[in-house]
Amino acid sequence: MASQLIREWTGIQQFPPVTQTKLIELLGKLKQENVSTLTILVMGKGGVGKSSTVNSIIGERAVAVSAFQSEGPRPVMVSRSRAGFTLNIIDTPGLVEGGYVNDQALEIIKRFLLNKTIDVLLYVDRLDAYRVDNLDRQVVKAITDSFGKEIWRRGVVVLTHAQLSPPDGLNYEDFFSKRSEALMKVVRSGARLRKQDIQDSGIPVVLVENSGRCHKNESDEKILPNGTAWIPNLVKTITDAVSNGSKGILVDKKLIEGPNPNERGKLLIPFILAFQYFFIVKRIQRAIKSDMAKERKAPWESREANRYEP
Ligand code: GDP
Ligand code: MG
Repeated sequence: MASQLIREWTGIQQFPPVTQTKLIELLGKLKQENVSTLTILVMGKGGVGKSSTVNSIIGERAVAVSAFQSEGPRPVMVSRSRAGFTLNIIDTPGLVEGGYVNDQALEIIKRFLLNKTIDVLLYVDRLDAYRVDNLDRQVVKAITDSFGKEIWRRGVVVLTHAQLSPPDGLNYEDFFSKRSEALMKVVRSGARLRKQDIQDSGIPVVLVENSGRCHKNESDEKILPNGTAWIPNLVKTITDAVSNGSKGILVDKKLIEGPNPNERGKLLIPFILAFQYFFIVKRIQRAIKSDMAKERKAPWESREANRYEP
């Protein structure tokens, strides 16, 4: 990572002063906890707003955004530093192709991450989607199989397109809670998380509106329909995830080349089978053989004896 060109984080000056103050305060808190680098991995399906969210956080057009899913096949890491603090955000290509999880794309992402530590995972989807399906589950499962379920202790679910008018009869908060509940159900099942795997607070869900037409408050901050200034809110959720007592995920050779980190127990299977073979199957075979040997002593029961009968 040392050879990486780290630019000064000038994009922060694009934010209104109130936002800048909040961000500097949040990063300052991390520095007090001796965290001077933050590496954020952004994943999800294609076209959900991953790249736009990266640009929104950095405050500049650092990665390409496309309305027509023609994103490059490789991850991109954007690094910016400010006052001794380095922010790395890794944008990745969508994980789905032709209705399936693209294993090759996942493999490329894993190799890209080699020797890096993921401090936070942003799992991105859209707020304005009305259903979750098995494909969502598969995407979560693919992430979990690659990095282990511990990654969800550093996970934040990000819902883009947050400036929406819910369909008739639903207010905004109800729509948001229904959508995040449905998505969290899929995340829990795809990641095979039990209640005790996640902290009491669960995986946080945050809203994002990347559109240039996002409403603003009197301090010129981009706000959600509920009035929350979403950029400082997103960064706060990210810094809280770093301080929640869990560990970042070091992507080492063992993790990317070894067995699925959630299924290490399966390594024991050949030994169990060998044990069964030598201590159970062999014994039964011996018992059968000795039975057969005894039977031969009774000629009236053998086939040879029967064959001569009329
Ligand atoms: P990615 O494939 O997940 O990286 O998605 P992109 O960031 O390239 O976005 C796909 C399209 O959705 C682009 O046309 C973006 O302008 C648009 N988009 C992304 N986020 C938002 C959002 O929060 N609100 C709106 N209205 N459009 C968005
Ligand atoms: Mg993209």
